[in-house]
Amino acid sequence: MQYTVPHYFKQFQCIGGACPDTCCAGWQIQIDPSSLRKYRKKKGPLGTRLRNEIDWKEGVFRRYEGRCAFLNEENLCDLYLEGGGEKAFCRTCRMYPRHIEEFEGLREISLSLSCPEAARLILSQQESVRFLHAENTKQEKPYEEFDFFLFTKLEDARSLMIQILQNREKPFRLRAAIVLALAHDLQQRIDRNALFETDSLLERYSSPQVWSWFERRLEKAECEKADKNEARRLVTGRFFVILDLMENLRPEWKTILRTAREALEQNEETEFSNKADSENSVKVRNLDTNFENVFSDITAEQLMVYFLFTYFCGAVYNRNAYGKVKLCFASTVLIRELTLSEWLRTSGNVSQDFAITAAYRYSREIEHSDYNKCRMEKMLDDEERFGLDMLFAGI
Ligand code: SF4
Repeated sequence: MQYTVPHYFKQFQCIGGACPDTCCAGWQIQIDPSSLRKYRKKKGPLGTRLRNEIDWKEGVFRRYEGRCAFLNEENLCDLYLEGGGEKAFCRTCRMYPRHIEEFEGLREISLSLSCPEAARLILSQQESVRFLHAENTKQEKPYEEFDFFLFTKLEDARSLMIQILQNREKPFRLRAAIVLALAHDLQQRIDRNALFETDSLLERYSSPQVWSWFERRLEKAECEKADKNEARRLVTGRFFVILDLMENLRPEWKTILRTAREALEQNEETEFSNKADSENSVKVRNLDTNFENVFSDITAEQLMVYFLFTYFCGAVYNRNAYGKVKLCFASTVLIRELTLSEWLRTSGNVSQDFAITAAYRYSREIEHSDYNKCRMEKMLDDEERFGLDMLFAGI
């Protein structure tokens, strides 16, 4: 079995009671069969509590007001405290925030952005992420119907996408546009069953000319748009509409979204009236150097690389490579917009910590619901609303 992890993987340490949130509220914690057997046999007061606080039919810990029955008032786990530490955990609690994507002969393990400490680690990386590989002799049963040929092409495409995203000589906007276009072209080959053309496609996207070609294409797209900010608002507005249609995991999420949209809309109105007053008036919505200090091109790069590493190769199971990249892109843009809204609301009085908060809140709602991830990917398939040129305007 082979394993791949991002280079910062081993730096993670749970900060326990100092965590600004908790991983034991807001979602169901599924208990694996072997832990269920262990809990069933447990004796003494902890055994009695386990028998009462597990929903044995569903195989999950009971929750009260969304919080795990074992989460105490100090946001610490009683099962950990009374059961002798980590060995008392079920697999889900032991693993979190480690997230595994499984492929034939390969496990790709990331740290989930939904954990505030993992989000801090991911977003505070200044260097480009590297991926470390390891192998052991463990043999697993071969997967039925695993399309190995498609998987290797997806892996090759993802390596190139990450390489493009990490080219810091170019603005993030251009890097993201090229990655979207590459995914779009790859999808055409997947749909036509023409995967043998992938190598030449990747070669074309590896050439130095690709940068100037897309630079011109973005410039042209900008010239065609009467108002660049208007086009951008349209795309991000459509992304927010998708968020409104998702299943809600935490009660406060709707309020967070509403507050964010209000701040962004209010800024649009101010910008509009400033424009009406004078052509030369200062634009309020100005992604200037101050906002760059909170959410920079490096922040966007780390987010999009994180999402790509975690989800892109999953296209081997649904053959929707373009949809996966759109989802990665929309997630990056939405986290930026959530950060921007707070920056506007507080007149620029936020630090990079808020980008971390926006990232883990977003991740908790979207990444931790298979329904939300699938639905969002499906909705982004709509080429009328989310075609390439439209997405370019959203960067
Ligand atoms: S969310 Fe992360 S840092 Fe917070 S308690 Fe859970 S594992 Fe620890």
